[in-house]
Amino acid sequence: MISEKLKDIIINEDCNAYFDEPMSLHTSFRIGGKTDCFCEVNTVESLRKIIACCREENTDYFVIGLGSNLLVSDDGLDGIVIKLGGDFEEITLEDDCTIRCGAGVSLAKMCLFAKNKALGGAEFAWGIPGSVGGAVYMNAGAYGGEIKDIVVSSRYLDENGNIGEITGDQHDFSYRHSFYSEKKYTILDVCVKLSPKSKNEIFYLMQDTMDKRKKKQPLNRPSAGSVFKRPEGYYAAALIEDCGLKGVSVGDAQVSEKHSGFIVNNGRAKAEDVKSLIRKVQDVVKDKTGVELECEVRFVGNK
Ligand SMILES: Cc1cc2nc3c(=O)[nH]c(=O)nc-3n(C[C@H](O)[C@H](O)[C@H](O)COP(=O)(O)OP(=O)(O)OC[C@H]3O[C@@H](n4cnc5c(N)ncnc54)[C@H](O)[C@@H]3O)c2cc1C
Repeated sequence: MISEKLKDIIINEDCNAYFDEPMSLHTSFRIGGKTDCFCEVNTVESLRKIIACCREENTDYFVIGLGSNLLVSDDGLDGIVIKLGGDFEEITLEDDCTIRCGAGVSLAKMCLFAKNKALGGAEFAWGIPGSVGGAVYMNAGAYGGEIKDIVVSSRYLDENGNIGEITGDQHDFSYRHSFYSEKKYTILDVCVKLSPKSKNEIFYLMQDTMDKRKKKQPLNRPSAGSVFKRPEGYYAAALIEDCGLKGVSVGDAQVSEKHSGFIVNNGRAKAEDVKSLIRKVQDVVKDKTGVELECEVRFVGNK
C-alpha cells in the first residue's frame, strides 16, 4: 500500500506513476504480478524525496533498470518500483574520450552515441537489452568485454539521501558482480572511458556481435538472457544440453531449443513455472555432472 503522503510527493514531483501495475509489462520475461506503484522518476531531487518518504514510512522500494535480468514473483512486489527517466536518460560527452551516461540510458543508446562520436570499446554491449545502471550493478558483459573494462566512475544515492561517487577499483567488479550488488544504493550516472576508433570499424564490430546473438539466442521469445552464471571451467548451456534438458518445460516455461542457457516464456509462463524449471535443471545437472549452477537472473518479489 502506498500512503497518501507518498502519493502526494509522486504527483507533485511530476513523476509518471501507474498504480496496481503488472510487472509483466516491465520485464523482458513478460512475467510478474502487480506492484502497488510503478513510478518513473525524472530528477535526483524527486528520487531523494521519494526514497526518504519510503524509509520514513517503511515502504519497500525497488529500483529497476530495463527489467531484462529479473524474475518477478507472480504475487508481485509490495511498495514502489522506481524507474529512472528524465535527467537519468541524458548522455553527454565529458571530454574527448569520456561519456557520462545517466543510469536510465539504455546500453543501445550508449553504443550508438559512442559510435557517432567515433569512440570504440563499448561494442560488446550492443544487443544487451539493459540500462547502464543495470549493467554496472550486474557487471554485464559479452563476447570478451565487460562493463568493468570501460567504467571509470559512478555516482549513487544511498538510502539516507547522500550522493556519493566511486572510481576505478572501488567498483569491486567481478563476474556479474559489483560494489552495488549487495547494497541498496541507486546508481545515478556513470562515466565510461573509450578510445578513438573509426565509425566503420565500430559499426562492423557491432554488426558482428548482433549477428552472433541472432544466430545463437532465442530473441523471438521473452526471456531474461542466460539464466545461469558460467561455472568455472564449463559452459552452462553445454552442461544443460549434455544432460538432455534442451527443450524441457514446466508450464509455458521452456529450456530454449536454440540456446540451452536461456529459459523462454512461450506465452503464459508464471514465475513459479520458471522457478521449478530452474530447480529441475540445477538438480539434474548436479546429479549427472556434480556441477552446481548458480542463477544469474535475480528473483524479486513477495514470494
Ligand atoms: C535477450 C537477452 C540477452 C542478454 N544478454 C546478456 C549478455 O550478453 N550479457 C549480460 O551480462 N547480460 C545479458 N542479459 C541480461 C541483462 O540484459 C543484463 O544483466 C543487464 O545488465 C540488466 O540491466 P537492466 O537495466 O535490465 O537491469 P534490471 O534487470 O532492471 O535489474 C537488474 C539489477 O540491477 C539493479 N539496478 C538496475 N538499475 C539500477 C540503478 N540505477 N541503481 C541501482 N540498481 C540498479 C536492479 O535493482 C536489479 O537488482 C541479457 C538479457 C536478455 C533478455
